[in-house]
Amino acid sequence: MPLPEPHLDTIAVHAGRADLADLGVHALPIDLSTTNPLPDVDSGGDSYESMATGGHPLPAGGMVYARLWNPTVARFESALAELEHAEAAVAFASGMAATTAAILAHTGTTGKRHIVAVRPLYGGTDHLLDMGLLGTETTYCDEAGVADAVRDDTALVIIETPANPTLDLVDIAGIVAAAGDVPVLVDNTFATPVLQNPIAHGARMSLHSATKYIGGHGDVIAGVIACDEQTAVALRSVRAITGALLHPLAAYLLHRGLQTLPLRMRAQQASAARIAAWLAEHPAVQRVYYPGIDGDERGIVARQMRGPGAMLAVSLHGGYPAAEALTSRVRLFTHAVSLGGVDSLVQLPAALTHRPVPPEARPGADVVRISVGLEDVDDLIADLDQALS
Ligand SMILES: *Cc1c(COP(=O)(O)O)cnc(C)c1O
Repeated sequence: MPLPEPHLDTIAVHAGRADLADLGVHALPIDLSTTNPLPDVDSGGDSYESMATGGHPLPAGGMVYARLWNPTVARFESALAELEHAEAAVAFASGMAATTAAILAHTGTTGKRHIVAVRPLYGGTDHLLDMGLLGTETTYCDEAGVADAVRDDTALVIIETPANPTLDLVDIAGIVAAAGDVPVLVDNTFATPVLQNPIAHGARMSLHSATKYIGGHGDVIAGVIACDEQTAVALRSVRAITGALLHPLAAYLLHRGLQTLPLRMRAQQASAARIAAWLAEHPAVQRVYYPGIDGDERGIVARQMRGPGAMLAVSLHGGYPAAEALTSRVRLFTHAVSLGGVDSLVQLPAALTHRPVPPEARPGADVVRISVGLEDVDDLIADLDQALS
């Protein structure tokens, strides 16, 4: 009797492991070879050409060189693709390397160099687009402005939802419709594949800074893009040529982290919802940015997500001095950038992650971003309570 379609938690535990039984192992093997024996000149050369142009290694020619292909990385990619219900995924040395590859794959040799971006975005993404380092020109607009901003030479529309740091929500299907033929890239870092699958809503690419929830333990820098196979070919080619491959040890840790991702997301989200509700009642708090509390008047969470996630932000009546004091008084929370790990963090985006963003588009100086981890939620609330009083 065939088994029913597996649920998310089952996919997370088993995906990307199909070849392990044949290898006679149970845990993921880590292949650290930089080079591989060549069976002969012709088949090795054919395999090299296949991978340098974004294809797979050819069975007769082997994997040749690890900048082109690594089996430990490929296993993680197939697992992530399965979780995103995508044909393929391509992993990179960081989230920014993934964003860079996505831009180069759609601009580099296509004759198009215009990008439309909806703010707010992660500060590093905004910085990369704003400085035009990759030879691109960016039009920033709000959600309603996308259709007017798209031109004949527009290569890509880039959005982030929920967006860093104020959890702004963007209607993915609406943006896809407004973009017409132009592919849409969604930064899905905050939601993870557990809470949102942008490709199901028409996006071409779902990008993750895997440094955050996917790694989940604060010890891996990585990026990954889920997409169709044709886009994956273009991305792998850029990755092979520019050298942005993920290290296999990092791929191993990410693949291991995927197994607990659904569990972590649900637990961290439940605590974030409790903390957001508690903060909303606190006299020192001016505003809570959390889709479950404020900022989802259009019902976007219900339309495209399976929950509001575990990130939130607050602004305080005391403004910047109060925000700064909070970061120095917390004891269980760590004052640090990054997010999505098992331990809770706070930071002031305007002073740190969003510092390169032009002042008019930067979050308020008093906004405190909170990444809720896996500690007991009552202990986290007690820590915030003492830090706010
Ligand atoms: C951290 C982050 C990035 C950049 O990822 P790195 O792994 O630091 O290069 C991109 N987008 C979002 C939403 C992020 O939080």
